[in-house]
Amino acid sequence: MEEGLVSVDKFSGGSQAYFLTHLHQDHTRGLGAAGGWCHGPLYCSPTTARLLPTRFPGIDASLLRPLAPGASASLSLSSPSSDGPLSLRVTAIPALHCPGSLMYLFRGDLGCMLYTGDFRWELGCDEARRAKQALLDALDGDTVDTLYLDNTYCHPSLNFPPRPVVAEQMVNIIRAHPDHEVIIGVDTLGKEDLLLHIATALQTKIWVWPQRLLTMHLLGIDESHEIFTTQTSLTRIRAVPRYSVTIENLEALNTECPTIGIMPSGIPWLCRSSERKAKSNGRAQAKYIRCKGRDEGLMEMDYNPLSPPKLFEKDSYALPYSEHACFSELEDFMQTVKPSTVIGIVSSSFCYVNPRHHFRHLCLDSDVNDERVDTKGGYTDKCTPKGKQSGSMNSGRKEGPDLHLNLYRSKVKMKRKECCGAKIDDTEELNGVA
Ligand SMILES: [Zn+2]
Repeated sequence: MEEGLVSVDKFSGGSQAYFLTHLHQDHTRGLGAAGGWCHGPLYCSPTTARLLPTRFPGIDASLLRPLAPGASASLSLSSPSSDGPLSLRVTAIPALHCPGSLMYLFRGDLGCMLYTGDFRWELGCDEARRAKQALLDALDGDTVDTLYLDNTYCHPSLNFPPRPVVAEQMVNIIRAHPDHEVIIGVDTLGKEDLLLHIATALQTKIWVWPQRLLTMHLLGIDESHEIFTTQTSLTRIRAVPRYSVTIENLEALNTECPTIGIMPSGIPWLCRSSERKAKSNGRAQAKYIRCKGRDEGLMEMDYNPLSPPKLFEKDSYALPYSEHACFSELEDFMQTVKPSTVIGIVSSSFCYVNPRHHFRHLCLDSDVNDERVDTKGGYTDKCTPKGKQSGSMNSGRKEGPDLHLNLYRSKVKMKRKECCGAKIDDTEELNGVA
């Protein structure tokens, strides 16, 4: 799409309309700029619109354009190059990532584009089936010219068990530690269903930090205050910011009271290179991952649900409860959409998983000689579509699967520096790569 028209998850100004897929920190850069948001109409889901003022108090509510899942809006824009009028119709599709998350389908004078943002597409889940139908209804037979895809876990080795299975496993871990305190790493938004499942299964309250409790109530969850609390004395289970679940914190907590940590995330499955590094540093840190790799780009997981993997050498567990689509879900999504071409929205400056490497056969332009497709299992040294990402339809997101844990650790390190240790009342979060 021509620059200067529409920006998605990028709020640096210069566009005529802005779209926010969801409220994770790595998608809201620029929204908190001094003076408050003033660059133009901002489309988001009604849920996101409700939460936005608590995260960005300076936001001008008159600029918000809530768009319910399944709803459409028409935009009249003008082409910056020709000054001519352009019409665009946008439809919001549920992204099933965190509360309020949306995909955006754009159609109009400039073609048809689908921007997924972060999404989950759990096969066999009723919500995903409804989202799929909503997408098909919105497309109404049209072909998506360009699909901007959440490629966080775009690798054939990255397939997670269904979330209810992982949630139950988490319950079993907690049950197996009846005399332990439990900390569970979460973001400022998302995984509410997991916490509710644990609370119900164990008939217990769960501690959350004050801003998280406010978010729960704004989401309409536990309004009678029976499940979530900010009083530590009422429960042994605490949901804490994910960067708080560290070896150091667990060691410190264990000097006072036996404590286990649980990290629900797909990230720990992506740390083969980090595992080697950790071992070479003399630290038997990554016992939790067993990968049989044929080369740098390929991994196979050996996940045994009866023996949950350890996050660190201490009592801590990493479970693949993720809010991003795993590979089989991405494949199903690609088969459903069959776009002309696909671009991954998640990249780092030195690593990029090109979805075309795995899904070119599902693209209508599969015959096109794509020089950007690499030969290393989809991992490239350079972020090839950067030219495209520098303009509109740019997520600004910086990540790469093979490097997730390193990246995550460096962010944790940075965050700890900023916070003088991991403060559980900090309202910020790390990138929502959960
Ligand atoms: Zn996210």
